[in-house]
Amino acid sequence: MSDLGCPSSPRKRGSRAGDVRLPWAPAFAGATKRRLWLAATILIATPASAADQPWGAVLAPSSGAMRVIGGPASGCIAGAAALPADGAGFSAIRVSRNRFYGHRDTIAFVERLGQASQAAGLAPFYVGDMAQPRGGPMASGHGSHQNGMDVDIWFNLDAKPALPPAAREAVDLPSMVLADKSAVDPQRFGARQVTLLRLAAGDARVERIFVNPAIKRALCAQLDRAGPDHGWLHKIRPWYGHDEHFHVRLSCPADSPDCTGQAPIPPGDGCDASLDWWFELRPPAVPAVPKPPKPKLPAACAAVLEGK
Ligand SMILES: [Zn+2]
Repeated sequence: MSDLGCPSSPRKRGSRAGDVRLPWAPAFAGATKRRLWLAATILIATPASAADQPWGAVLAPSSGAMRVIGGPASGCIAGAAALPADGAGFSAIRVSRNRFYGHRDTIAFVERLGQASQAAGLAPFYVGDMAQPRGGPMASGHGSHQNGMDVDIWFNLDAKPALPPAAREAVDLPSMVLADKSAVDPQRFGARQVTLLRLAAGDARVERIFVNPAIKRALCAQLDRAGPDHGWLHKIRPWYGHDEHFHVRLSCPADSPDCTGQAPIPPGDGCDASLDWWFELRPPAVPAVPKPPKPKLPAACAAVLEGK
């Protein structure tokens, strides 16, 4: 199973599935890095195939009992629940995308995090994409988010006006990372964001959280790695993009034996050579690396798409 993050930007796919280094990882410095990021973006931002469209065209969850089938990058969910547009400590944005569905555990996690962040004195956070009503592949934006166990949460913790959901389609969500991706922007990423990540990672149902490598590096530098409050760094995983939001993935729920989990995260806090890798200068890659085929959906998802 891949370590695919969400990638609400198309930069995600690619080079580091399952923590395996592939030769075309766009980890370069300066102008070369920027050019290769652009090239990778163009390469990856291909239109979805027609086969993906049915899942996005379905407007409501299936009628079957709630269960997760398959994994985050190749799966679906029957009987999904919808995240409320507003709750204590959070608000959903871009709801017109109709991607606010998930397993009840994912909904409950967002609600717990909202309450915990509110208790910690943080302003409400925005919640972005979860899954489509029946999960499955999306026509744009994500390689994962397919089985109802993924959710994107935005780092912006400024005080927000109380807006109706329809007014939250186009909100200003700045990056937390400098333009050259070398480090976090200290004007934007600070103690509030660290608190929110710590609260999310401390939730027992959370399996891993994807953040930009510069954010992981900032956490490694800021926290006392020998102290008692650092164990949660284990769940924080570096991945492309994820500079204005982080992606939370929950482990498989107890009620879904057909849910496919991921390989465990390697031991340790991840503040090591595996993190340095993201910042190393590497020679340009051979351009013609074929894209891996899309993973096939589990057969049981066919009935979910039909509404069962
Ligand atoms: Zn995501």
